[in-house]
Amino acid sequence: MINPKPLPFDEATVRKIAEKYPTPFYLYDEKGIRETCRQLNEAFSWSEGFINYYAVKALPNPHILEIVKSEGLGGDCSSIAELMLCQTVGLEGEQIMFTSNNTPINEYKAAKDLGAVLNLDDISHIDFVDESIGLPELVSFRFNPGPARTGNVIIGTPEEAKYGFTEQQLFDGYKKLKDLGVKRFGLHTMVASNELDGSFFVETARMLFDLALRIQQQVGVRIEFVNLGGGIGIPYRPEQQPVDLKVVGKNIQSLYNEMIVPGGLHPLRVVLENGRMVTGPHGYLVTTCIHHKHIYRDYVGVDASMANLMRPGMYGAYHHITVLGKENADHDQVVDVVGSLCENNDKFAIHRPLPRVESGDVLVIHDAGAHGHAMGFQYNGKLRSAELLLKENGDVQLIRRAETYADYFATLDFAPFHSASEK
Ligand SMILES: *Cc1c(COP(=O)(O)O)cnc(C)c1O
Repeated sequence: MINPKPLPFDEATVRKIAEKYPTPFYLYDEKGIRETCRQLNEAFSWSEGFINYYAVKALPNPHILEIVKSEGLGGDCSSIAELMLCQTVGLEGEQIMFTSNNTPINEYKAAKDLGAVLNLDDISHIDFVDESIGLPELVSFRFNPGPARTGNVIIGTPEEAKYGFTEQQLFDGYKKLKDLGVKRFGLHTMVASNELDGSFFVETARMLFDLALRIQQQVGVRIEFVNLGGGIGIPYRPEQQPVDLKVVGKNIQSLYNEMIVPGGLHPLRVVLENGRMVTGPHGYLVTTCIHHKHIYRDYVGVDASMANLMRPGMYGAYHHITVLGKENADHDQVVDVVGSLCENNDKFAIHRPLPRVESGDVLVIHDAGAHGHAMGFQYNGKLRSAELLLKENGDVQLIRRAETYADYFATLDFAPFHSASEK
């Protein structure tokens, strides 16, 4: 059987890395991340001022942010910690989009102080921001199309989603901004997550182009950018195809020429805020088989758990698994691949055909480069793993060490642990 999802490293490389950094660990492929950034920029090169604000929550590590920044990406933040990460790598001002919801005022203040684009989630936030910290010169609103649009699995139906303004609120809100003296305006939406149908994003562009034109006509406010959100999906399953970015870019360009140019809104910047598609396919959770178990089903136990990668347990998400050195072996056993949490959803795969796995075999869990390590947790006293970067020149760099028990106990006000971590 030919491995449908080839890896950018081989077994010998990984075994060598594991001598220094014990499994489980995350491994990110710099070359792949850079290539994806370039493909995205290329697809929208027709659009003056195009930028993808990388969704920091997907992989909040400054070394990764440095890479995407050097490829011309900005940062999309929703919390103070994410703003701080952007700041440490020199992203600032309008290179940062602050898209949050149910936002505390100190978070709006931190974003405003950095000069980030404030993307308000609700019409009541206009007064909320104005009265305590003052509105900035540029303000954007997040639109929730409600029943006008059906959503997809992860993000849900817009009508049931807590985010954004209704259409009427957008019109009222821009009018209010204008009256309050705001000078520059943006429009945002995020209605997809992990969507593999490229036409979905073209329809989102159509929806926002149409709104921007009507807002101009009815409120007299000129929208300077539309942000189509993130949510471009990745082919987690071997039989899936990635979104054809070139086609999406070209189709949005056609709409722009049909709607925005004759409508008198050119130049209107088109921006995105994808996280998953940028780093997702280029991150791997590397883990070692430690047990086999045969009861009513057959199990392969590994040294990672759901605390390292919760997408399968949380969403039932598929992550492809390669057993290193057995890429071409027959996949003639069907197993559940499990971690060690006291939770039965701590499974990386269910009923998965794999080659015969022995203790000591190294398993690579694919497509873990977004919403992977970042969603890690410490339940059951499990520690978060290290993150490593496979650089373009083949070097491996530790970009986040593994947690220690001192980290785990650091916040406890209990003397024996304190003296241990103060040493
Ligand atoms: C999570 C999120 C993103 C990024 O989503 P991806 O699926 O990683 O592309 C972008 N914008 C907002 C508002 C988000 O919440």
